[in-house]
Amino acid sequence: MPKIATRVSQLTGEGALAVFARAKELEKKGRSIIHLELGEPDFHPAAPVVDAVRAAVANGRDRYVATRGIAELRSAIGEYLKRTRKLDVAAEQVLVAPGCKMALSLAMMALIEPGDEVLYPDPGFPIYPSFTRGLDAKPVPYALCEKNRFQPDLSEIASKITPKTRMLIFNSPNNPTGTVFTAGTIAGIAELARKHDLWVVSDEVYARILFGGEYLSIWALPGMAERTVVIDGFSKSFAMTGWRLGYAVAQKHVIDALDMLVLNTFTCTAEFSQWAAIEALKDETNAVPAMVEEYRRRRDLFVSRLNQIAGFRCQPPDGAFYAWVNIEDTGKSAEQVQSILLEEVGVAGIAGAAFGAEGKNYLRFSLVSAAHQLEEALDRIQRATMHWRAAVAR
Ligand code: PLP
Repeated sequence: MPKIATRVSQLTGEGALAVFARAKELEKKGRSIIHLELGEPDFHPAAPVVDAVRAAVANGRDRYVATRGIAELRSAIGEYLKRTRKLDVAAEQVLVAPGCKMALSLAMMALIEPGDEVLYPDPGFPIYPSFTRGLDAKPVPYALCEKNRFQPDLSEIASKITPKTRMLIFNSPNNPTGTVFTAGTIAGIAELARKHDLWVVSDEVYARILFGGEYLSIWALPGMAERTVVIDGFSKSFAMTGWRLGYAVAQKHVIDALDMLVLNTFTCTAEFSQWAAIEALKDETNAVPAMVEEYRRRRDLFVSRLNQIAGFRCQPPDGAFYAWVNIEDTGKSAEQVQSILLEEVGVAGIAGAAFGAEGKNYLRFSLVSAAHQLEEALDRIQRATMHWRAAVAR
């Protein structure tokens, strides 16, 4: 039999999807499950966005279009980044892709050579090390530790840079910890990148979901626009996961390289969704701030009550919609806690090792369910811990 290429065996999946599959199985058997495993907002796009996609299809905007995205959307993204992040980005520095993940993988394909080393956050989005290995390159983790409030240790990063290091990836706010990197951290990363001539991939997919302060993008720092690729999109900020819309921002010669990859693979992003995306960026109904306020309420509710349950400990996240919960004091492994919560009380969360070795003692819960469901999840978690404490006492 002909063989599958070895690069596929280098890739790994996402832990969330495995838990989701098991949760669905249990639901089929009639069990009640509260889904806190997927990073999928429970909101839907604002009404004007839905109207815009309807109008686009009705008006025949369903054709092949420019490989890098329609000009109108690329300039709208430039204006949006100016308005919301104070970035100077020209339309020629933007490439539209079907999802942030696609934009990320295009950037990695364009900039990483086999044998290169790529620094990535641990815990972090599991696709960073997986896709690095798929490119026959070496993923090198840097830790985000609780004792450091999940900020990276710049001296650890510096010590891991070798002549083979080509790229540093970071994600602020971070999935799964919710950490927003401080201005000092970002300046430190920029300094290392300039000193060692590295590419920086700044995954800003959660940049709008911020519970205080203004977003600082590394793109804006001196000498960084020339070596940075910003990844962002519509899945999280505009609750448009299934629309598959993301983008990369970089210097024009980098965008040209990504564009060549687009031409050789998916040709272009769907035209009608790009027209609707322009409407989303305007956010005339203020859907984004309303959604962020709701995430803030959920965060406050979930974290404060969870911290009262014996064995669980969680720092309130500064951004994104995840609670990253230390379960060390339960005396059980994160996999055991994940399994007990799902199988016995119907709460689906993910054991932290799915996000890297540093996640060993953690569980991630996505705060993508309504407040009353989060309350119910907390009641169930409390009930589960009472069962196991009673079992130990027996
Ligand atoms: N980057 C991070 C950090 C994410 O958490 C996710 C989705 O969970 C993505 C990228 C992918 O986004 P998209 O759905 O737009 O491909």
